[in-house]
Amino acid sequence: MALAQAGSVALPQLRETRVLGNPYVFVQNPLYAPVTFEFDIRGINLSLSREAKFVQVFPARSLSLAFWAKPTQNNAPWAFSYSWHYIMGDINAVPDGSVYDLPFAPGQSFGINQGYDGAFSHQGKLEYALDFALPEGTPIYAAREGVVVAVESWFHIGKIDPSLQLCANYITILHSDGTFAYYAHLRFGGSLVKVGDSVERGEVIGYSGNTGYTSGPHLHFHVYRATSPQGSWQTLPTLFKTSLGLTQLAQGVSYTRPENKFSLEAPRPSAMGSSTPGKLR
Ligand SMILES: [Zn+2]
Repeated sequence: MALAQAGSVALPQLRETRVLGNPYVFVQNPLYAPVTFEFDIRGINLSLSREAKFVQVFPARSLSLAFWAKPTQNNAPWAFSYSWHYIMGDINAVPDGSVYDLPFAPGQSFGINQGYDGAFSHQGKLEYALDFALPEGTPIYAAREGVVVAVESWFHIGKIDPSLQLCANYITILHSDGTFAYYAHLRFGGSLVKVGDSVERGEVIGYSGNTGYTSGPHLHFHVYRATSPQGSWQTLPTLFKTSLGLTQLAQGVSYTRPENKFSLEAPRPSAMGSSTPGKLR
């Protein structure tokens, strides 16, 4: 899973400052998503503001103290060093069970040419990925609202070659529950959104294509969450609204996106329901 590339947004960095000679280490996170860091601190004659090994989630677009260090005995030599890992996303995120819209126009029908646990490439952490058989240039609609956290759109080659795995154009969108949606193999220049944009469910965000490691034009879609600061993540099974009702999508089956976007949603709250909380974003 690539983070945002150079040219779109900077990556998280550590900032160290000294206060009365003691180091204070901050995390500067310029991403539009939280990041989970793990620190491993070693040293001699060392007192720390926290345990020597810890995991912490830092909010999107923030500068936050990670830890400070000082000598335990002031007049003795002391030294310290640390290492760290991070991943984009909150490893404590809990999927809220949201239902997804099919990522193409209302009324259109497309098949799944590789589903969950698909033999070609949907194994391991990609177990719950879906390949929609979209011809190149098909408008892609956001399956759920969120904030665009990564975009790649300058690749232009696609074929069955694993060395092209990191050469797919894509859009990654953060949802309110901390999960991400990943839309991949978009055509060259095929993103209509940029990092930092808020997108609505059902908004056109780009155009499908055939870039990266592919066996032909399609849209690869998955929802995932980060699972460890060492860089691991896992795709998640998702329910979609289809003309057949709410369902997980199966390989070899064609699905139609309902025309009426409200037909399968819960009844709207009445005017009496003034305590209904607003939509969280
Ligand atoms: Zn796929």
